[in-house]
Amino acid sequence: MTTPLAVELKALIAAEGPISVGRYMALCLGHPRHGYYMTRDPLGARGDFITAPEISQMFGELIGLWAVATWQQMGAPKAFRLVELGPGRGTLMADALRAARLVPAFGAAAQVDLVEMSPVLRARQAASLKGLATPIWHDGLESVPDGPVVVIANEFFDALPIDQFVRGRAGWHERRVGLDDADQLVFGLDPRPLPAIGALAAHFPPAREGDLLERLEGGAVQALGARLAAQGGAALLIDYGHAAHGYGDTLQAMKDHRFVSPLETPGEADLTAHVDFAALARGAKAAGARAFGALTQGEFLARLGLGARATRLQQGQDEAGRAAIAAAAHRLAGAEAGQMGTLFKVLALGDPSLGPPPGFAPQEEFA
Ligand code: SAH
Repeated sequence: MTTPLAVELKALIAAEGPISVGRYMALCLGHPRHGYYMTRDPLGARGDFITAPEISQMFGELIGLWAVATWQQMGAPKAFRLVELGPGRGTLMADALRAARLVPAFGAAAQVDLVEMSPVLRARQAASLKGLATPIWHDGLESVPDGPVVVIANEFFDALPIDQFVRGRAGWHERRVGLDDADQLVFGLDPRPLPAIGALAAHFPPAREGDLLERLEGGAVQALGARLAAQGGAALLIDYGHAAHGYGDTLQAMKDHRFVSPLETPGEADLTAHVDFAALARGAKAAGARAFGALTQGEFLARLGLGARATRLQQGQDEAGRAAIAAAAHRLAGAEAGQMGTLFKVLALGDPSLGPPPGFAPQEEFA
């Protein structure tokens, strides 16, 4: 099947030659007219995928309480920026702000800033937050005004472009998207070997021929770490991925809750890569922040009190209602395949003076 974006990509590649995986991903997700996120609301049961805040209000509520505790740990500044990166439908932020009403001074001090590239989702976020906050939207963290921050990012970093490199006999070869003889999009390797691909590769296990290394592009985590170090605050990054560096191709495309080939329907399938949390921690640390974790989502939510929150919500519900709440809690925190408890990880970043953010222990600092 061809898509309007496939036509543009083929013309681009015909003119300029094969493009990097990162550029392919950036265009598939963010092309102004045909980008996946620019043209639709992909979330929910009827969309292409579902996320933790869309599964249950408990997720956003617990993160709201985390944000309150973090703000208190920061010394309860009278004014700070409550930032969400990639807020989707605004569900997490709405649930977080509702839960945070327990501490009115938090809401009074918070200015909500949303980093969102999609006009469709910005409208959705505005509707979700009506009466709860007066958000300001941004294209990137760099335009969020000065001041201490509490930053939340759920399933944001998996959507940021990665480049891929494959180990050959004489060095690394960049994986690129080009055209085959039938003018179809196809993966290939740049024949020119690269002797080195940056400092990060040194932290990976020794590479064998055929190993594939993924590297997040764009410097988003470095910018976040620098902001925390310079102006104070903390960030909570939640995503699916691995806690330690490893090789392997994790680029995946999802449409209608099913995996499809990443090259099949550019602009019409969600395109993500597993997050390398060790790389995020290193990037933030190199910029002057401290990193804690990554913990599994199941462990983190248990520490925040998921069990007690579920029990509280079950009160006054009929049997079906109680079962639905138990099922949602299990979906968020369960360890089995298909549940989010171990696949998803949670990393906290903070300015060096802050110490371990709520839910994290001193010995869980990323070394
Ligand atoms: N956090 C939400 C949505 C996750 S989907 C949830 O958990 O439900 C990813 C979100 O990040 C979407 O809102 C998408 O539009 C946004 N996004 C992806 N890449 C982005 C980028 N480069 N800049 C700004 N927003 C981006």
